[in-house]
Amino acid sequence: MKALVRGAGVAGLTAAYELAMRGATVTVVDPRRDITGTASWYAGGMLAPDCERESAEQIVQDLGLNAADWWETALPSYVTRAGTLVVAAGRDATELARFASRSNGFQTLGEEEIGALEPDLGGRFRLALHFVREAHLDPRAALTALRDRLERKGVSFVEGAPRWMKRFDVTIDCTGMARAKADPQLRGVRGEMLILRTPDVSLSRPIRLLHPRFPVYVVPRNDHHFMVGATMIESDAIGPITARSMMELLNAAYTIHPAFAESEIVESGVGIRPAFPDNLPRVTRNGDVIHINGLYRHGFLLAPAMARQAADLVFSRQTTTERIHEACH
Ligand SMILES: Cc1cc2nc3c(=O)[nH]c(=O)nc-3n(C[C@H](O)[C@H](O)[C@H](O)COP(=O)(O)OP(=O)(O)OC[C@H]3O[C@@H](n4cnc5c(N)ncnc54)[C@H](O)[C@@H]3O)c2cc1C
Repeated sequence: MKALVRGAGVAGLTAAYELAMRGATVTVVDPRRDITGTASWYAGGMLAPDCERESAEQIVQDLGLNAADWWETALPSYVTRAGTLVVAAGRDATELARFASRSNGFQTLGEEEIGALEPDLGGRFRLALHFVREAHLDPRAALTALRDRLERKGVSFVEGAPRWMKRFDVTIDCTGMARAKADPQLRGVRGEMLILRTPDVSLSRPIRLLHPRFPVYVVPRNDHHFMVGATMIESDAIGPITARSMMELLNAAYTIHPAFAESEIVESGVGIRPAFPDNLPRVTRNGDVIHINGLYRHGFLLAPAMARQAADLVFSRQTTTERIHEACH
C-alpha cells in the first residue's frame, strides 16, 4: 500500500503515523519546509475532552478521550498528565457554576486545595474545577518529534507539489484551510495567541480563566514560557494580532497571576482553524482520496481518532481490492 499524505500539520502527521504503523509506504508532501505558520504551530496543545464538552458535542468528548494515550504511545514523555484547572475571577463566579453544569469529569477545589495543586495560585481564587484526566503537550515539540519518528520509520517528506510523483494507491488530503478553495463548507476561525516568559510564575497544568465574553487559557511550556490563547473570531484573515486581542489576552494572564505583567512577550501569532458548519471534524472519501479536515479547535485532541478512521478506510478498501484481485486470478 503506497499512501500519499498531503499536509504536514497535526492531521497529516497523525495520519502518516497510523498508516506507517499499519505497514503502508508513506510519503508526506507539504509546500512548507517546516510547520511554522500553520494552525498546528499556534495551538495550545491541550488534550481536554472534558472541558471542551462545555461548548462541544458529546462526540468530541468521546473521540478525544483516548487522545492522550495515543500521543503518549507515539511520543513517550511528550505528554503531561496533570489535568486542567478552571478558575474565574470573583465577579465571574456564576461562570464557574455554568461551566460545571455543562461539563463532567471534574473535582471542585477550594482555596487551600488550589494552592496545594498550583502553589502560585494559592489565595488567588476561592473555587476551581479540576479536570483530573486531561493532559497537555507542546505542539511544536510534539510535531517535530513525530516527524523525526516518521522519518526513522522510513516515511519520506517532500517539499512542494506532488505532480512529479509516482502513482499512489491512496491520497490522504490534510491540507487544512487550503482546502477551503475546493470545499465551500470549510471556514476559518481565527485564533490569536501570545507566548510569554517570566521566571516569576510556575504552573504545572493549563489554567482556564472563565469570562462571560472572553474565556482565555494559559498553558505552561518549558523554561517558564507560557502560551496564552486564544481568540475565536469568525475570519480567515491571517494579519497580525490586534491591539484589542492582545489587551484581552494580557488582561486574562494578569488576572491569573499579576507577575505576568512583568513577563516578556516572546511571540504573538495567528492561526486559522479549519471548521465545518457544525464545528465537527470529518473523514470523507472521494474515490482514491480521503479527506481529513474541520478539526476546528480540537486538532491535537481529535487528530488521533481521525487518523485511525482514515487508516481503517484505507485498509478496509485495500482488503476489498485485494479480494477482487484474488478472485480474478
Ligand atoms: C491559537 C490556537 C490554539 C489552539 N489550541 C488547541 C488546543 O489546545 N488543542 C487542540 O486540540 N487544538 C487546538 N487548536 C486547533 C488545532 O491547532 C487545529 O485544529 C489543527 O492544527 C488543524 O490541523 P490541520 O493539520 O488540519 O491544519 P494545519 O495545521 O493548518 O496544517 C495544514 C498543512 O497543510 C499544508 N498544505 C496546504 N496546502 C497544501 C497542498 N496543496 N499540498 C500539501 N500540503 C498543503 C500546510 O502547509 C500545512 O502544513 C488551536 C488552534 C489555534 C489557532
